[in-house]
Amino acid sequence: MLKNQKSVRAGIEDFLCPFTDMYITQGSNSRFSHKGIMANDVRGIQVGVRYAYYAPCTVKCLKTYPSSGQVMWQSTNKVRFANGRIDYATFMTAHDDSMNVQIGQIVQQGEQLGNMGTKGNATGVHCHIEVSQSADTSWIKNSEGNYHFNHEYDLDECYFVDNTNILNGMGGNWKTTDQVVVDEEADTSNQKNYVNLPPSINSWALYDVDVSPLKENAKATLNPEKFGGLSYYVYEYRDNGTTAVIETQQFGRGKIYIKDTVAKITVGSYQYQSGNQ
Ligand SMILES: [Zn+2]
Repeated sequence: MLKNQKSVRAGIEDFLCPFTDMYITQGSNSRFSHKGIMANDVRGIQVGVRYAYYAPCTVKCLKTYPSSGQVMWQSTNKVRFANGRIDYATFMTAHDDSMNVQIGQIVQQGEQLGNMGTKGNATGVHCHIEVSQSADTSWIKNSEGNYHFNHEYDLDECYFVDNTNILNGMGGNWKTTDQVVVDEEADTSNQKNYVNLPPSINSWALYDVDVSPLKENAKATLNPEKFGGLSYYVYEYRDNGTTAVIETQQFGRGKIYIKDTVAKITVGSYQYQSGNQ
């Protein structure tokens, strides 16, 4: 993938290959340090260059391991993998010398996730990556002494290689998104009733469903800026269509005012990751 690349079909992000140039120096189940695990070590065009890599989908940082420049990431929603499965992605990246992510931080699909490096047990500049197609965060040592996830898949079953220049793909069956067809019409029919709060808003009142939407009645405040924008499914409209009833993760069900043109709130198809707040 390229920097800032996004791929969303039928409201679901395609899980993209985080590398712009991919030279695999050690593949899955290799006897060097990947015995029994489905990890890849990847470098870029030139040996020794700390190339950037990007978020394959919108992710949250769950854990960091500073001594090895290692991070455990998880998708904020279910994603589509190259084998067609739709599930959460939980994955590890390692060896980033300049790793500076904070636990809980959200990185949007296409934004920089890290840099290849040598931090920890690494013989040359690369990124070690392994992917689980589930929300299971168990990180377990196998009989060879190598750590792995449950539900790991080979990387050619995980990421789409749209705009990835494959320099050494180790014979993998790498797929692009056009090889996994999605019926956008069928799947989007229930995706068209979302309210989108743009990231330019840093404070938007949430009201209980049965009160008047007046400032003094607010029960909580949403912060779309913090999450790069927020989208919510609209259960119903209230107050002559000026408010929408939504379900928030943090504050439960409530309604928000949707008719403010200055705030550029839109109603239609899903625009931002939903369920972040
Ligand atoms: Zn490795």
